[in-house]
Amino acid sequence: MLATPTAATATIATHLTVLSTEDCPLSAAHGRILRGPVSADRPLPPYNRVTMDGYAVNSADWSSDSSRGLRITGFQAAGMMAQTLAATGLAIEIATGAVLPMGADAIVPYEEVERTDDTVKLAATATCQPGQNIHRLGSDVATGTALIPAGTRLTGADIAVAATVGAAQLRVSARPTVAIISTGDELVEVDARHVAPHQIRRSNDHALRAALLQSGLTARIERFHLRDHRTEIDASLRHILAEFDVVIISGGVSKGKLDHLPQALADLGVTQHLRGIAQRPGKPMWFGTTPRRTPVFALPGNPVSTYTCLHRYVLPALRHMAGQTPAQPETAILAETFKFPRPLAFMLPVKVGTTDDGRNIARPAPFNTSGDLGGLLGTDGFVELPAETDTFAAGTPVTLWRWT
Ligand code: AMP
Ligand code: MG
Repeated sequence: MLATPTAATATIATHLTVLSTEDCPLSAAHGRILRGPVSADRPLPPYNRVTMDGYAVNSADWSSDSSRGLRITGFQAAGMMAQTLAATGLAIEIATGAVLPMGADAIVPYEEVERTDDTVKLAATATCQPGQNIHRLGSDVATGTALIPAGTRLTGADIAVAATVGAAQLRVSARPTVAIISTGDELVEVDARHVAPHQIRRSNDHALRAALLQSGLTARIERFHLRDHRTEIDASLRHILAEFDVVIISGGVSKGKLDHLPQALADLGVTQHLRGIAQRPGKPMWFGTTPRRTPVFALPGNPVSTYTCLHRYVLPALRHMAGQTPAQPETAILAETFKFPRPLAFMLPVKVGTTDDGRNIARPAPFNTSGDLGGLLGTDGFVELPAETDTFAAGTPVTLWRWT
C-alpha cells in the first residue's frame, strides 16, 4: 500500500540528519539558520538613556514652583560620560541618546522650556514628572536574557539585535551542497540551437533551483543532466552521491522501461524508504538515503508533479536538516466545492485571496495534466485534499502550501 502524504512526511523525517554548524560573521548571517542562541551580554538599554533633546533636571526643583529658573551648567552629548547636577537649581543641556546625568530624574524637551541666556524656565503649559523622557536601564531586557532562539532564520531585525549584544560571529547551520539532476533523453538545454519536434527543453532543474534559492535556503547548488542510459546514470550518480549533501532528481522514477533510477539507486547502495505516495500529482515520488545518510529525493518528471513534490516534501526536509523551527502550517478555506476521484489525495493548485475577516481563501485552478506547466502560472500554491473523502465543500478549511 502506498504511503499517505502525512505518513510519507514522517518517514522522510525519520531518515534526515541535521547539518553541521559553522561560525558566520554577522555581516553574512542574514537568511542563515541560527543554531546557538543569542543572549543579552548586558542590560538593554545599558544605561538610563535620554530620549529627547532638551534639559536634564531634578523634577523636585520645579515641582512646587514651575516659574523658577534653573541655571544651565553644561552640555552633555550622546557618547559622553554622565555629568552631575551638583546642586539644586541647576540644569544640564542634553542630547537624545546621552546618559542621564547624576542627580537628574527628568528630561524637559526644548519645546517645553523658555530659555534666556543660561537660564531655563518651564513653559506655562508644560509639566515635569520624575522619569519623563528617560528609557530606564534594563527596562527592555535583563543581562542573560535569550533574545533569538536557535532555529530562527535570521532577518534584518535579528541581525540588529545580534549586533546590539556584540554577537560578531553567529553559530549557524552549514550551507548544504545540493545536486539537482534532470533525467530524460527527450530533454535539451534551454539555449539549444535547434529543438526537434520530439524534444522538449529542460525546465524542472531550472524550476527546482529557482524555488530553492527563492525559499531562502542558503545552499550551494549544482545542476546535472542524465540521459536514460544505465551506464551513464551509474557513473554520474556514483560521483554525485559521494560529493553532495542532498540529491534531488527529476524524472525516471515511474514504472516505464527506461525509468532506471530506482534500480540504479538501489545498485549504488541507496536504501529505498518510499516508493510512491498516495497522491496526485506526484504519485511516483521516491525517497532513500545513502550509507552516509545523504537523502535522495527522486521526483516524478512531470513538471507540476516535480514542483508540487518539491514544496510538499523536499523544502520542508531541507528546513529540517538546517535545524529551522517549523512554521505553523497555513490553512485556507475553499472558495468552491471540489470533487476528485479517491483513493489518492489531491494536491490542487490554487489562487489565494483574503476574506473580509482576514482568512485565506483558496480558489481552485485545476490543471489539465501533470504536464500542464502553464497551469501553475498565476497560482500561489496548492491545497492538500486528503483522500478521506472525495468531496470538499466550499468553506472547508484545508492545508495550504504556498509556492516559495
Ligand atoms: P518521467 O518522470 O521521466 O517519466 O517524465 C515525465 C514527463 O515529464 C515526461 O513527459 C518528461 O518529458 C517530463 N520531464 C521530465 N523531466 C523534465 C524536465 N527536466 N523538464 C521538463 N520536463 C520534464
Ligand atoms: Mg523520463
